[in-house]
Amino acid sequence: MKKILSYTVSSLLMATTLIAPAYSAETQSTVAQVEAPAAAQEAKKAKNVILFVADAGGVSVIHAASVLGYGAPLKLNIQQWPHLGLNETSPVDKYVSDSANGMSSIMTGVKTRNGVISQSADAERRKKDGAPTKTLLEYAEERGLMTAVISTQSIADATPAATYAHSNDRGKWGEIFPQAFSPRYGDGVDVMFGAGRKKIGEQLSAQGTSFDKLSKKHKRPIYSQLAEVPASNARPVVVGDDMDVHAATLKALDLLEQSPNGYFMAVEWDAHTDDALEGLQNVVNFDKLIAEVQKRVNLDETLLLFTADHSFGLQVDGGARGQDLMEGYGDWKALKKDDDIVRLKNVLVNRTHTAEEVPALAIGAGADQVRGYFPNTYLFDVMMKAYGWTEDAKPAQ
Ligand SMILES: [Zn+2]
Repeated sequence: MKKILSYTVSSLLMATTLIAPAYSAETQSTVAQVEAPAAAQEAKKAKNVILFVADAGGVSVIHAASVLGYGAPLKLNIQQWPHLGLNETSPVDKYVSDSANGMSSIMTGVKTRNGVISQSADAERRKKDGAPTKTLLEYAEERGLMTAVISTQSIADATPAATYAHSNDRGKWGEIFPQAFSPRYGDGVDVMFGAGRKKIGEQLSAQGTSFDKLSKKHKRPIYSQLAEVPASNARPVVVGDDMDVHAATLKALDLLEQSPNGYFMAVEWDAHTDDALEGLQNVVNFDKLIAEVQKRVNLDETLLLFTADHSFGLQVDGGARGQDLMEGYGDWKALKKDDDIVRLKNVLVNRTHTAEEVPALAIGAGADQVRGYFPNTYLFDVMMKAYGWTEDAKPAQ
């Protein structure tokens, strides 16, 4: 960890030295003048951090979403943010990451193995636990902030799970979900809005428990729809068959904004492009939500961070401005084929996770730390530093 960080810092310094002569002094001073107010904002501590994760939203997917949504590149709201870095997502033993390692690394600052939820790298999937690695959400709970986790996917699935749970297997939803009710720090996740009700319910019952039993034991109702949550409930849990993340995020903000000590919120929106049109449309919709959130929060005291847990094999390799990017999609959809490679006229999809870095974009308090290439674990450091927190000493390995 330390080695990686000092390496990153020295690489950044080297890069600065190498790149500096390429800019003219004139360009630099112009940029400095324009960005002066933004720089002042970024030097401030963050009271709040919102982490937006487009699951499988790599550079090529973000690009394609802009083209799909707006007929041109660079039109997404997040593409207007001032700070960009490239987030390297691999697990400790392979090149390609799954959501479990990808999100665990971001949330804990410790890379692990695919399939493992916020445990150290000596965990073996389904066989052996590693040590639990403390998540940013747990740091926030410990310090009395309000916390929220929101997902279009199952709330026990790898990406949301890595914020609040620790397990040697991402598939153990019957073990993962109840951990939200027996937190290691503070009073646990305050606001949970996600999907996966049927499958989580089945796995809970295999563990001899249920939504009802958990509710009663912990005196916390587990609603099945956002609309069921009474206005009086300041710490609602909703596990639905699906989740309207747009409505859920705005509702969560209503609650989090009441917190005197600030908040941490993680919002996941699935962006897998196995179905290219659906995946790209998800990114367009996610970006619209992020724009709404950005208008609402005070960026002087809030860090907005956007990234992906890993990349995906989609490429735009054809097409022309003013024409349909998704030409041939309807025919492909009608064939109902499940091939690994989807060849549309302008879009090629190798329907799998890929290893290359994903974008990390930032705006607001502490955002200027996001630059250059870095390992996914660095985003944990970015959020900790934005809050002004120091990491606990880790046990020697
Ligand atoms: Zn993922």
